[in-house]
Amino acid sequence: MAAAMSDRLNATRRARELDATSREVVDLLVVGGGVTGTGVALDAAARGLSVALIEKSDLAAGTSRWSSKLAHGGLRYIVAGQIGVAWESAVERNHLVRTIAPHLIEPMRFVIPDLPGYPRGNRALARAGFGVADVLRIASRTPAQLPRTRWVGSDETTRLVPSLRADVRGSFVSVDGALEDDARLVVAIARTAASYGARILTHCRALDVARDGARVRDEIAGTELDLKARAVVVAAGVWSGGLVDGVRLQPSKGAHVLVDAAALGSPACAFNVLVPGSRNRFVFAVPRPDGTVQVGLTDDAVEEVVDEPGVTNDEETFLLDTLSSALRRPVTSADVVGRFAGLRPLLGQAHGETGADLSRRHALLVRDGVWVLVGGKLTTYRRMAQDAVDAVARSLGNDRPCPTITLPLVGAGAARVDRTRRLSRRFGSEEASVAAAGETAPIAPGVPALRCEADWAVQAEGAITAADVERRLRLDLVPAWAAAARPYVDDVVAGLAD
Ligand SMILES: Cc1cc2nc3c(=O)[nH]c(=O)nc-3n(C[C@H](O)[C@H](O)[C@H](O)COP(=O)(O)OP(=O)(O)OC[C@H]3O[C@@H](n4cnc5c(N)ncnc54)[C@H](O)[C@@H]3O)c2cc1C
Repeated sequence: MAAAMSDRLNATRRARELDATSREVVDLLVVGGGVTGTGVALDAAARGLSVALIEKSDLAAGTSRWSSKLAHGGLRYIVAGQIGVAWESAVERNHLVRTIAPHLIEPMRFVIPDLPGYPRGNRALARAGFGVADVLRIASRTPAQLPRTRWVGSDETTRLVPSLRADVRGSFVSVDGALEDDARLVVAIARTAASYGARILTHCRALDVARDGARVRDEIAGTELDLKARAVVVAAGVWSGGLVDGVRLQPSKGAHVLVDAAALGSPACAFNVLVPGSRNRFVFAVPRPDGTVQVGLTDDAVEEVVDEPGVTNDEETFLLDTLSSALRRPVTSADVVGRFAGLRPLLGQAHGETGADLSRRHALLVRDGVWVLVGGKLTTYRRMAQDAVDAVARSLGNDRPCPTITLPLVGAGAARVDRTRRLSRRFGSEEASVAAAGETAPIAPGVPALRCEADWAVQAEGAITAADVERRLRLDLVPAWAAAARPYVDDVVAGLAD
């Protein structure tokens, strides 16, 4: 089925489509506007199903904007012996890089240094892991942008990451996919779904779900309504357990800090640092195109699910101390410009998994006739959606094959992406449209985002509140950016009410 509708989302379209949905029975109601829910909406709409997606807050309001922003080949799963999970990651990374969203993914070199004091045998272990990763990369047909891992000596290592300790003995250099921005990926999936007729209803909270629909609160109007559907898929991430009885998740918190790139000598490559006392646990520093370096990651089970988990002092100290153990000059909290954390929606052991890492897999569950799609990761969202829609569509008598492997997202058609230009790498083939939406001047002094991006966010990307605009421009990552941009963002949002 070809896309037949506009891919532009805005407040007027939302109000119109919410009203229409309240008076019809759609084939599929999706609950949750993260990467999983939008992926399901796109797949189902592209197979010809009528689809409505409800999201309690905004697109990518949950875990999907707090990821490490890697479209990765699953190296950590190889180390954990989970070759099947790594293979799925490598295959999906290939689809993303080649067809689905090439503009949003940059091949990133990761330097994995060998330092005095690291456990003996570590180098051989790493070589074996990278060997398997290379086999998966070649078998999944990922193109030359992600070349094979190689060993380089100390001079080359220091040239690649000048801030590393002078006694570095050399490093493996491996290449993986770095996402421009996870929230931008979700918005692109949602708009592509809208172009196939999916109704993207943000600020609509499911209060209660059943096999034939949901009781919903419109958080903008403050009203409640019932939406009816022939099938319901809950893709509410770590919140799924609170909506559907019998879904046991074991959320795990991952914290990151954003360090001013200058404090690390503005590295061109990412680098991994072994956590002292561990054999295969790393903290990694990934340069972002906005003058920051993202340092992560923790992995700690948590009991409480909150909307915006903050970064504790202990988490920040762990990340900075581990990183500093490999540096000539330590980084401190004074170098930190932003902090963020997310909750991984890991499957609980009640679903037959044994051991924490196994739950990186995804699962499609059915509880009282409601489908629940949980687990997985950003890189594999398309495969998760395919598995779910295969089953749901079959139950609705639709046997069309999954179309999403060859379905590019909005912005994916750029002949060439210039990664030195913000609009090119964030919007791909839509660069000119975004530039035409407003002024191309910075939104405020010292802030990387441009004014036209805020205008585009409300005109075409469904932003309704100031926080929605901040999320799309990623002003939410650095509080100083959000504060400086607030006057312009408020003006743009106020324009919606005129
Ligand atoms: C720190 C961290 C780093 C990660 N790094 C990577 C990485 O580099 N690469 C990778 O591939 N994966 C990564 N992951 C995994 C990946 O981010 C997640 O698996 C994925 O984003 C989960 O998406 P989701 O759509 O299932 O959940 P979410 O993004 O949380 O979406 C669920 C949505 O449901 C909405 N919702 C909740 N309740 C309701 C309700 N009652 N009504 C309506 N809507 C509701 C929420 O607001 C939310 O927007 C990382 C995860 C974490 C935590």
